[in-house]
Amino acid sequence: MSVDMSSQASDSNEEDFGDQTDYYEGVAGDVEQQSADSFDPEEYQFICLSYKDSQHVLTEEVNTVAAALKVSPSVAKLILVHFHWQVSQILDRYKSNSSLLLSEALVQLSSTCRSVTAPQALQCGVCLQVVWRDSLLALPCQHSFCKACWEQHCTVLVKDGVGVGISCMAQDCSLRMPEDFVLPLLPGEELKDKYRRYLFRDYVESHFQLQLCPGADCPMVIKVQEPRARRVQCSRCNEVFCFKCRQMYHAPTDCATIRKWLTKCADDSETANYISAHTKDCPKCNICIEKNGGCNHMQCSKCKHDFCWMCLGDWKTHGSEYYECSRYKENPDIVNQSQQAQAREALKKYLFYFERWENHNKSLQLEAQTYQRIQEKIQERVMNNLGTWIDWQYLHNAAKLLAKCRYTLQYTYPYAYYMESGPRKKLFEYQQAQLEAEIENLSWKVERADSYERGVVGGEGELSASDRGDLENQMHIAEQRRRTLLKDFHDT
Ligand SMILES: [Zn+2]
Ligand SMILES: [Zn+2]
Ligand SMILES: [Zn+2]
Ligand SMILES: [Zn+2]
Ligand SMILES: [Zn+2]
Ligand SMILES: [Zn+2]
Repeated sequence: MSVDMSSQASDSNEEDFGDQTDYYEGVAGDVEQQSADSFDPEEYQFICLSYKDSQHVLTEEVNTVAAALKVSPSVAKLILVHFHWQVSQILDRYKSNSSLLLSEALVQLSSTCRSVTAPQALQCGVCLQVVWRDSLLALPCQHSFCKACWEQHCTVLVKDGVGVGISCMAQDCSLRMPEDFVLPLLPGEELKDKYRRYLFRDYVESHFQLQLCPGADCPMVIKVQEPRARRVQCSRCNEVFCFKCRQMYHAPTDCATIRKWLTKCADDSETANYISAHTKDCPKCNICIEKNGGCNHMQCSKCKHDFCWMCLGDWKTHGSEYYECSRYKENPDIVNQSQQAQAREALKKYLFYFERWENHNKSLQLEAQTYQRIQEKIQERVMNNLGTWIDWQYLHNAAKLLAKCRYTLQYTYPYAYYMESGPRKKLFEYQQAQLEAEIENLSWKVERADSYERGVVGGEGELSASDRGDLENQMHIAEQRRRTLLKDFHDT
C-alpha cells in the first residue's frame, strides 16, 4: 500500500497530531511499505555546455529574433536580455505592439519622447567643443556627442565591469548601446576582450534556461528546460549547486530561506561559537569522550553505555519510532511572558537548530574521512588480489549514500527553524526524525563495517553475507526516508 503523506496531513486537523503516540502508531507501519522505489524527487534534466556550445545556443536565438523583428543581431541581443531570452514571448509581444516592445527593451525611444533634430554644426554636450556633424555620433535618440567623449564613456564603464548596461550619455536617456556601437569605440584588443566577456556573462545570467558554473574560473554553462531550485553538477569542475540561486544545493529548504539562514548564522556566529565542543562526558560514568566518527549514536568505551551525542540522552529512546531529538519543543505560553523571556526563548530556539545544523555538518566531514579510508582499503585489497573492485563496491556505495542522506538531513534544520507550527510542521518533524534515526543507524553500520575491514573489530576478514545484507537493507531504508521527505516538502 502506498501512502500519500502530504494529503493525509492536509486532511487532518491539529487535534489528530496532538497525541504523538497515537500519531506514530498510525503512520509508522505504512511508511515502511511505501513503494516509492523508482521515483526520485530530485531528478532533473540538465546539460553542461562549453563556452563554444553556449555561444552557439545564444547565436541561434539571436538570429531568430533578429530575422523576425528585422533588427541587427546586436539590437536583438539587447531585446533578448531584457526579456530573459523568452523568444516566443518576444515574438508574441512584437506582433501585438512592436514599438512598445522596442521601447521597453530600451533600444528605441518611446513615442512620447522626441528625438533631437541635428543642425549642421553642433556642440558636444559633454566637452562643449564645437564639431562638425560628421564627427558626432548618436544612438537612435539622436543625442549627439563627439567620438572622443563616447570613447571615454565606454572605456570607463567597461573597466568597471559593465557589459550590456552601457547606455546613452544624455541625461535622463536610458537608451542602451548595442555592442556593435560600443566595440569600435574601445581602444585596444584587451579592453574589447574584456567587454566581450562581460557581455557573455550578462547574456547567460539573463537567460532563464542558462546558468554559469560558480566553480572558480570555470567557463561551463548549465542548460535546463525549466528553471527550478534543483541540484546540478558541472561536468568539468564537478561543482554541485542549486540551479536557481547558484548557492550550495539546499533541498528541502528553498533559495530565499537558505539565504536568510546563512546570513543569520554569519551574523550570530559569536553567540554560536561556544557550542562547537569536540569532547563531552559520558552521562553514565562521566569519562571524557571524544567524537571521531560521524555517527551520533555513541558508545562509551569504558562502561559501554549507549547515548546520543546531541542531547546526551539514552540511545534507547532514539529508536526510529520515538526519535525526539530533532524536535524543538516550543513554549506554548511564551506570548504572555516578558520581552526578555521571549528574547531568551528565541535564542534558545535558534541555538537548538543551529547546533544540529553544525553537528551534521561536522558529521559529514568525519564521514568523508571514513569514506576516504574505505576507498584506500578497497584499493589496497584489489592490489593484493583480495577480491575485485566489484566485491567491495557495496561499502563504497554505502558511504556515498550516507553522505547524500546526511547532507539532506543537515538542510532540514533551516527548513524546520522557519516553519510555522501546525500540522504540516508536525508531519515534517515526524519525517525528519525518521530520516535522522535511519541515518544514524546507517552511519553506525558503516563505521562498524569500516572498523571490521580495518581489523579493529574481530580481526581481518570479510564482512559476513548477512552483515552485508543488513547494511544494504539499511541503505535502502535511509534513502527511502530521504525521498519521502523531499517528495512531500521540497520545491512544489
Ligand atoms: Zn565631446
Ligand atoms: Zn540618448
Ligand atoms: Zn564548473
Ligand atoms: Zn537555490
Ligand atoms: Zn561511560
Ligand atoms: Zn538525542
